[in-house]
Amino acid sequence: MKFKLLLMMVFCFTIFTSYGQQEISKNKRAILASVEKHEANLIEISDEIWALAESAFEENRSSELLADYAEKQGFKVERGVAGMPTAFVASYGSGSPVISVLGEFDALPGISQKAQPTKDPLNEGEGGHGCGHNLFGTASLGAAIAVKELIESGKIKGTVKFFGTPSEEKYFGKIWMVREGLWNDVDVNISWHPSASIEADVQSSLALVDYKVEFFGQAAHASADPWNGRSASDALELYTTGINYYREHVKPTVRMHYHIQDGGQVVNVVPDYARLWMRVRDTKRSGMMAVYERTMKMVEGAAIMANVDFKISLISGIYEVLVNREGGKIMQANLELLGPIEYTEEEIVFGKKIQEATGKELVGMDSVIKPLKETKEHPGGGSTDVGDVSWNVANINLSVTTAPKDTPWHSWAVVACGGMSIGHKGMSYASKAMAMTMIDLFENQNLVDKVKAEYVKRKGDEIYKAIIPDGPPPINDD
Ligand SMILES: [Zn+2]
Repeated sequence: MKFKLLLMMVFCFTIFTSYGQQEISKNKRAILASVEKHEANLIEISDEIWALAESAFEENRSSELLADYAEKQGFKVERGVAGMPTAFVASYGSGSPVISVLGEFDALPGISQKAQPTKDPLNEGEGGHGCGHNLFGTASLGAAIAVKELIESGKIKGTVKFFGTPSEEKYFGKIWMVREGLWNDVDVNISWHPSASIEADVQSSLALVDYKVEFFGQAAHASADPWNGRSASDALELYTTGINYYREHVKPTVRMHYHIQDGGQVVNVVPDYARLWMRVRDTKRSGMMAVYERTMKMVEGAAIMANVDFKISLISGIYEVLVNREGGKIMQANLELLGPIEYTEEEIVFGKKIQEATGKELVGMDSVIKPLKETKEHPGGGSTDVGDVSWNVANINLSVTTAPKDTPWHSWAVVACGGMSIGHKGMSYASKAMAMTMIDLFENQNLVDKVKAEYVKRKGDEIYKAIIPDGPPPINDD
C-alpha cells in the first residue's frame, strides 16, 4: 500500500514538473492567449514603426499607430498630452488599483539599417530603431490590451493605463508628463526595455543633465585682419579642453559628453558664433549636480580667455531610476513561469552573424532566466527618463532579449534585430511578462501595498524636483 502511495506521488510530481504550464493561473492563461491573438497585428504595428524610424518629437505616425490601435480596442485615448503632440494616454476600466505601463516609440538619427546581419542602410542617412523602441511601445500596448480584456470580462477590477511617451532619446518627454501629474492617480507603473538578456531589472540608471552652451564673438577675415576678430570657436575649443582636463579629477561614476553643433561655417572667417550640447551624468543626482555646477563655471572661463560672450540654456535633466525589488520579485516569478525564449536555427545563425560583424564572441542568443540579481550601488550603463517616473510612482522594470549577446546598443545591429523575428519574439515575451505581473497586482492588493511601501521607503525624504526649463517642451528645437 505504501509503495502504491509512493508511486502515485512520484507520478503526480512528474506531471506537475513536466507540465509547468499547469502552474499558470486561469487569468494568466487568458493573458497568454490575448497576446497571441493580437500578435500578428502587434508585429505589423512594430514593423511599421521600425520602418518609419521617426525621431524625437517627430514620431507623428508612430504615435498615431499605437493610439489608433488602443482606441480600436476600446481604450479612451487622450492625445497630445503635456504639450507634446505625440504624447498620449490610453485608459480602460474604473476604480482601483490603477496600474500603468510605459511605451516609447522614438528612433535614433543616422543609423538606418535593413533587417539583415550585415551593415546596410534601409534608407541612406535616415534614422533607425537602434534602441528597439518600436518593440518597446508595441509590447507595452500588447500588455495593456491583454489586461483590458480581463477587466472587460469581469475577471479583474480596476483601471489599466498605457502611456505613449515620446522623445526618450533626445529631450526625455516623460519629464513633461510627470510635470503634468499624469502618474498622480497610478498605484504601480510597469516598464521594460529591449536588451540582450532577460531579467527582472533591479538596477538603477545614471542621472543626467543637458544644457546648451553658446559663444558670441566678432567675425573678421581670417587672414586680412584676424586681430579684429574674437573667435567663438576658440572659446568652444578652450571649453572642451577644460572639460577633457577635468575628466581626470571626477569620480569614476561621472560621465561627460559633448556634441559640437556649430563650430563656424567656413575656414576663412573668424567665427562669431559657436554652440555645443553638453551632458553630465553620475550614478546619483546629488553627485551629478556638483559636476554640473563646475562645468557651467568653466563656460565663463573659456569665454574670458577668448574675449567673447556666452549663454547657457538648460535643456532638461533626468533622475536615476528608483529601484523596486518587491516589484522585481513579482516580475521574476512570472519570468520563471514563462521560461526562456526558444530560437530557431536560422535566428541563432542570424545572431552569430551580428556578433561576427560587430567583433563579438559568436555565442548566439541569451534568453536564460537567471536568479534575481543584487542591486548595485553604481550600476553603470545609460540613463532613462523612466527615472523621473520612478520618483513619482512605484515602478517595476523588465529587460527582454531582442538582440544577441553583447550587441552594441544604439547601433545598426539593434536596428537589424528589431525588424525581424528575434525582435518580434522578445516583444511578445515582454507583453506576456508585463501583463502577468500586472495581473498579480490586480488580484492581490497586498502585493500593491508591498511595492508601494518600498517606493515610499526608498524615496525617503528626498523631494522630487525636475530639472526642466520653464515653459513648453522643446518641440521645434534643433
Ligand atoms: Zn531606449
